[in-house]
Amino acid sequence: MIEQDVSFKNYPTFMQVATACVFWMVHLTCFFVLWVGVSWIAVLICLALYGIRMFAITGGYHRYFSHRSFQTSRSFQFVLALLGCTSAQKGPIWWASHHRHHHKYSDTEYDVHSPKISGLYYAHMGWVLSKQYKHTETALVQDLTKFPELQFLGHLYMLPPILLATATYYLGVGLDNTFPALQTSGPQMLVWGFFVSTVLLYHGTFCINSFTHLIGRQRFHTGDDSCNHWLLALITLGEGWHNNHHRYPGSERQGMYWWEIDITHYGLVALSKLGIVWDLRSYPQIIYAEAASNRLAS
Ligand SMILES: [Zn+2]
Ligand SMILES: [Zn+2]
Repeated sequence: MIEQDVSFKNYPTFMQVATACVFWMVHLTCFFVLWVGVSWIAVLICLALYGIRMFAITGGYHRYFSHRSFQTSRSFQFVLALLGCTSAQKGPIWWASHHRHHHKYSDTEYDVHSPKISGLYYAHMGWVLSKQYKHTETALVQDLTKFPELQFLGHLYMLPPILLATATYYLGVGLDNTFPALQTSGPQMLVWGFFVSTVLLYHGTFCINSFTHLIGRQRFHTGDDSCNHWLLALITLGEGWHNNHHRYPGSERQGMYWWEIDITHYGLVALSKLGIVWDLRSYPQIIYAEAASNRLAS
């Protein structure tokens, strides 16, 4: 069990300070939009990279690596891991280990990121910067540590984001040379396509750890503070149906009904039609019956 450190008893290590500096520098770099300007193509790439990488986090890091709620090939498993890694949220094994820990100890004193126990800032992003959670709790992820390629990404987790940042820069340079009417440039595409997109992605993902345990409605009595919220579900491609998810984490879909928009689920269904993923697990009938009974009782 990892114990939580919210005190100032332990001095930060060099790596902890360096990680915090990089984290805040990524945020501050967004202000360069004032110098590089804006173009519709840069905003489009920013939103596209947000959507693709959010899908890799929700469909890959969360629903696949953390909960194994569907099956896929080893090669597509690596694609999900690599895309998720470009989000600058470390490797899939680290991510899954802390997420499984969260489900095990939700909103108790052992929870990695409970706003009820540790406050909103710590649950949202303070825990990411804490040296307490630098290491992976390997006992919780033995099904993942057997893959050397996932271990490799865990060691070199900074490489995919750096490669993506470089690619966005050269995309801007290429577009500027080929289609000058687009009025973009390497620096503009780097700032919008990588830095702004990554910061939005950070806080979209962090909302799941913080706000979905603070605002919204509870359909199920899960014993924690997890809630469902439609707006958080839209921002996070379906993860806002968090109370449903805490009731039955093994389901690939998190929205239970057609009106609970779950874009990650639609994407995974499309991939299953193409034969890229399969064995998508859903909520069993007993969970729907429980939801109906709770609705009648309320
Ligand atoms: Zn939760
Ligand atoms: Zn989960």
